[in-house]
Amino acid sequence: MEGKWYRGDTHTHTTNSDGHLRLYQLIDRCKAAGLDWIIVTDHNKNTIPQSYSSDGLTVIQGQEITVYNGHVNIWGVKVPAEPPYEIPDADAYAAIMQRCADAGATVCLNHPFCSQCGFRVPIDGLPADCVEVWNTIQHSDNVRNMDWWVGQLKAGRHIAAVGGSDYHGDIAGIDMIAMPTTITFAKDNSPAEILAALRAGRSVITNKPGTSMIELTVGDAILGDTVPFSAGLTGKCRVTKLLPGFELKVFNNDRVVYSHKAKRYEKTHTAMFPVPERGFLRAQIDFRLGAGLKRVIGFAEHKYLAPRCEHPAPTADALFWAFTNPIWIE
Ligand SMILES: [Zn+2]
Ligand SMILES: [Zn+2]
Repeated sequence: MEGKWYRGDTHTHTTNSDGHLRLYQLIDRCKAAGLDWIIVTDHNKNTIPQSYSSDGLTVIQGQEITVYNGHVNIWGVKVPAEPPYEIPDADAYAAIMQRCADAGATVCLNHPFCSQCGFRVPIDGLPADCVEVWNTIQHSDNVRNMDWWVGQLKAGRHIAAVGGSDYHGDIAGIDMIAMPTTITFAKDNSPAEILAALRAGRSVITNKPGTSMIELTVGDAILGDTVPFSAGLTGKCRVTKLLPGFELKVFNNDRVVYSHKAKRYEKTHTAMFPVPERGFLRAQIDFRLGAGLKRVIGFAEHKYLAPRCEHPAPTADALFWAFTNPIWIE
């Protein structure tokens, strides 16, 4: 497919809900960050009446349906319902999500295992195109999102992973715009093509717009594509900006078919590896938390997450820095 990689953020808030920036300020910040597209997802409100382009930045209409039992992003069309939303159980979620999909929306399960505002109903059967595996600054809840998503892939479900900064404002001087960034391969930067690419899983999620990129291919196939299985099938992975101690892993289902831990900074790293099984192929860069860093992250999670949590997550031993959607092998 002809196309380009476009950097974006699927999940942002403005002063039209509880964000700190006005829409025009958010747009200025996203342009300064080098983004190609953003989706404006205020709580229970479509802030913009339709998608548009602002000096090359595609601004996509969205809304975060926000109720106690879990949050759902609705992208690309106005939500065909008015708040307050009554969504008491999984059936009610399925109904409103399907109604949005029928209206042409792309539908995403947000931060499903967030220890503060994750889902309080079962999510396995909900009709979602995407799941927000990485929400806001990296922390242990995202590891649980990843575990659920990989379980869905192993079951053969084509549900695409995305990242969302859930931007409300900067925190303690940290620039939270596009942390993480979703980098999407699309024909062009129109709202329809960006959303189609998100649904198809033609995306890589990485920490910030300028950090590591992972290009994973099998022959001409890229992320989201399906290739026929054959004996001797080979994949290729090219990674940029691998930091010391960070580890690239390529998975064929459960099996690690390639791993490489950088001893020093590597501007690029290229690998070839066999694809021995039908199923899927995906790549991920992890960093292990040493005792010191684990204490710092554990302290921050305990301070900011745990007081409002029903089930605070234990601090992870490793976190991911970037990951791809799968290439399907059938
Ligand atoms: Zn939310
Ligand atoms: Zn949000």
